Amino acid sequence: MDLRNPFGLKDGQIVMIEDIPQSMNGQRCGCVCPACKDIFEARMGEIRRHHFAHSGKGCSETNAYIAGLYMLLNEYLSSGQPLYMPPVIVQFDLSEYYYLDETNVRDHVRILSRSKDEKREIVLYTSKYVQFTASKIMTDSDNKPVALLAAVADKRLAIRITPPDTVCKRSSASQYEDYPTLEIDLSDEGERIQNSPKSELFKYFMNTHEIYHWVFNPIIEEAFPRVIMRSKTYYDAAQARIKKETEERLAEEKRLEEARKAAEAEKQAAEARRLEKQRIAAEAKKAKAEQEKRDEARRIHEETGGYISGKIGSRYITKTLDEITEKRPYSNILIEFSRSNFEKAISDIREYKQAGVSMLYTKMCFISLAETAILLQIYDELKSTEPDTAEVLEYLMDKSGIVYK
Ligand SMILES: [Zn+2]
Repeated sequence: MDLRNPFGLKDGQIVMIEDIPQSMNGQRCGCVCPACKDIFEARMGEIRRHHFAHSGKGCSETNAYIAGLYMLLNEYLSSGQPLYMPPVIVQFDLSEYYYLDETNVRDHVRILSRSKDEKREIVLYTSKYVQFTASKIMTDSDNKPVALLAAVADKRLAIRITPPDTVCKRSSASQYEDYPTLEIDLSDEGERIQNSPKSELFKYFMNTHEIYHWVFNPIIEEAFPRVIMRSKTYYDAAQARIKKETEERLAEEKRLEEARKAAEAEKQAAEARRLEKQRIAAEAKKAKAEQEKRDEARRIHEETGGYISGKIGSRYITKTLDEITEKRPYSNILIEFSRSNFEKAISDIREYKQAGVSMLYTKMCFISLAETAILLQIYDELKSTEPDTAEVLEYLMDKSGIVYK
């Protein structure tokens, strides 16, 4: 890194290269390295940026730069100028699913120096200026500065400087031991430091607020009871809301399920009613058909005087004809039969009337030759046109001994 160091040390005080008049170029500046105390020379040429450089081998420019930076700030504090302290803001997590208590609150709080989201913050202290009565540079085992420890009364504050990122790679400042630790972030201020006299830099330290950040301050514990309370309040409200929403959702699901079941039951009931209606209709139809069959049988029975109740010519009718001829074999009344009388009797038979059968049978038992001729004539006609009626006639002729074949 082609670092140009603007910090020199003269008579125990930091001198910025901008404070050196051109006339004191080179070793005439009378400065030494802030880190290794080797002799410095001021290099204030026309082209390159003004800076100090070791006249001999010396230490590294980075060492010199960082040592100079801490010494500058130390001088600022020692000169009685107050340091800006940003507000102490405690930022905390709020969750619907857990709340904070003494055991976990530390894992869920952060210290802020500027407000980000007021809902999750407690401003513990507002900003202020503090005038320190003592300060000293703390170094590591390599004698490199790592923090500035400032004191007022019995209070201590560690200050860590983040140097310009042109000096060394940026890394976030960390807590120094157990002290409240403030970072002064100069990562973007390489140019300003390079080009400013010491008085300007002191004004800059005084008036610029955004470079100060809290890294750590145990004082935030004062806010823990309030953080815990707000976390619990938030959690309780969220849980109540979640519970209410869950209950409403379950109630809605239950209502939908019941409506679905009711609709299903109604559908089944409707189907049952339809089937019952169908069954009743089928039974009624069957009953009606049976009734019609019975009515028809009764009508035939009544019309035939109870002897002929089916189709003439069937075996059943033959049997009832037997009954007729056995029950009423003869009559004493002789009826004169013309063709029209025969036809009247046959018409009755055709209409299933027992009167016709019995009348014809009675006559046929005492039939004359002329009448036999008429009867056979009718029989011949009926054989081709009405075989059923002819069959009844055949039976009657068999019974009464008339030869017709
Ligand atoms: Zn040096």
